[in-house]
Amino acid sequence: MSDQPKSPKDARRLERVKQGSRAARDVGQASPAARGRPAGSFGQMAKSAPRRPPPVLGSIGESTGASGEPTVVVSRRAVERLDLGHVWIYRSDIAAPAGLEGGEVVRLADERGWFVGKAFYGAQSQIAVRLLTREDETVDDAFFARRLAQAKSLRDAVSPDPERRRAGRLVHGEADLLPGLIVDRYADYLSIQTLTEATDARRDLFADLLQDLLQPRAIVERNDVRVRAHEGLPQRKGVLRGEAPGPVEFLEGEVRLVADLLEGQKTGAFLDQAENRVEAGRYARGRALDCFTYGGAFALQLARHAETVTAVDISEQAAAQGRAAAARNGKTNLEFKVANAFDLLSDEAEKGERYDTIVLDPPAFAKSKASLDAALRGYKEINLRAFLMLSRGGVLITCSCSFHIDDQQFESMVLAAATDAKRNVQVIERRGAGRDHPTLLGVPETRYLKCLILRVL
Ligand code: SAH
Repeated sequence: MSDQPKSPKDARRLERVKQGSRAARDVGQASPAARGRPAGSFGQMAKSAPRRPPPVLGSIGESTGASGEPTVVVSRRAVERLDLGHVWIYRSDIAAPAGLEGGEVVRLADERGWFVGKAFYGAQSQIAVRLLTREDETVDDAFFARRLAQAKSLRDAVSPDPERRRAGRLVHGEADLLPGLIVDRYADYLSIQTLTEATDARRDLFADLLQDLLQPRAIVERNDVRVRAHEGLPQRKGVLRGEAPGPVEFLEGEVRLVADLLEGQKTGAFLDQAENRVEAGRYARGRALDCFTYGGAFALQLARHAETVTAVDISEQAAAQGRAAAARNGKTNLEFKVANAFDLLSDEAEKGERYDTIVLDPPAFAKSKASLDAALRGYKEINLRAFLMLSRGGVLITCSCSFHIDDQQFESMVLAAATDAKRNVQVIERRGAGRDHPTLLGVPETRYLKCLILRVL
């Protein structure tokens, strides 16, 4: 038992130790530089290791392992990807037993049969495997209960909310090592999404475990999202536990917001921006403008410190929601306009309008790599107009939630806009999604939101 390898890397090391090979001595003395080399170097080491029959820890077509899970064999490229910290493996990099059903927990083995990890298997999506653990541990109800408790402990540590009056993300899918599961909390209510075959098949289990862990008044599912189509899953929304909640009031900082858990966008609100909104409020002053305001969540934070706030959205429904939110918070220094933000920014910049605080929080312009250039032009245009209108010392809070645009591209675009506007710009804060939306090192897909807080000199 004691010399059972814990990981593929460990397995290769043990194998070399047994062989007494030169490679084993090299591994034992690996310098920091060698450890820091990309995973390709593991491939080279494996190549130079003496040949012998692979250990039979699993092979295609068999159920193996103490827990009896089917084994999926993953390519060397996939092992390298996992070694780089990723948790997804594409269908082209696996060999699965015939008839393996989507939604099962599987053992992963490398091409030589060594244990690599345990994962959710999907039969439909191009992402065939989503890693659950790199350890050879039992994946049962207790395992998922532990993962949920671990997710909760992060939120308890970073934003304790004993009165349960706030909203936040409790489970952020892959980033909480619960791939395909999203759980948002709004005061006493939970809204969940089961986005993959495996999490969807365990919807009742997760609802039970969440009920035990958090005792919410109700749990709703918002499984009416397009990504489920990749998994062959139907669109669905409704109440899983408790009674239909109706609109739920919660606090964001000192601002009172309302989410309609069954009818609102996403799972009710854009929670990833919650901390950025509260932070934006700290910088607000004078005349403020919030573009792409939706229900006015940024605008309401600005209105606490600014003299006047203009909030703009193209949707009449969003503006109506924003006006109701302003009334609920007793704010009278806030005006909602229904307009195309591109037109409004360009008209006002032309007229020489001035603002002291501007927020730009547009929807994702780059939905795919193909639309990248057009998206960057769109972002640059709105940022340029904002820079033209900001007073000296004025603050711009500028965001992008396009995954296809990374931090560097975003900053280059902002710099180009500032240069065109002939403004010098200080970076006050580089922010991302809130702490309840953690990211995984090695999984860039978990990091998509960029938020810069800038000051114009
Ligand atoms: N800032 C909001 C979230 C914005 S979501 C918050 O923190 O809650 C993006 C919003 O942009 C949506 O409400 C959408 O209706 C609006 N929108 C999309 N295109 C627009 C355009 N061209 N002009 C103005 N608003 C637009």
